[in-house]
Amino acid sequence: MLTGPFPYYSIEPIREGPLLVQWMMAFEQIPKKDWYSILGADPSANMSDLKQKYQKLILLYHPDKQSADVPAGTVEECIQKFIEIDQAWKILGNEETKKEYDLQRQEGDLRNTGPVDAQVYLEEMCWNEGDHTFSLSCRCGGKYSVSKDEAEEVTLISCDTCSLIIELLHYG
Ligand SMILES: [Zn+2]
Repeated sequence: MLTGPFPYYSIEPIREGPLLVQWMMAFEQIPKKDWYSILGADPSANMSDLKQKYQKLILLYHPDKQSADVPAGTVEECIQKFIEIDQAWKILGNEETKKEYDLQRQEGDLRNTGPVDAQVYLEEMCWNEGDHTFSLSCRCGGKYSVSKDEAEEVTLISCDTCSLIIELLHYG
């Protein structure tokens, strides 16, 4: 049954099921996929939109829909895609897991708000006696600002106007 250099990719076992399940379990261990983009959906899409997109894609990439004579690479890609799409729907098609995933996403977004525009030492920022903050002008015209207390712990400061962030360096 398992023949060829990529036994898991061959059509036969996939049709039988168990290997596909193994694959899916393996994929569940891989975090940080963008399930929305896998479904070609916007994170703000509602449940029926998501379902529609899922149903369309899952049919398109279903292993049973692939002809047996496509090049191995293509079959492999289709199966991977199929698994991803299925996994995306498992997460986004359920209110609980969707909520959990959305939260994870938000946290991730904060950590990668955008590219770090510059690395600066606190000493390079302007001290504002008035409100006890350090600040620096952003090239957008906005301002990076951090309070004296926060400056001790904070390493990333986001601009109050655009999505740029700067990294605050501390002397060793
Ligand atoms: Zn800015």
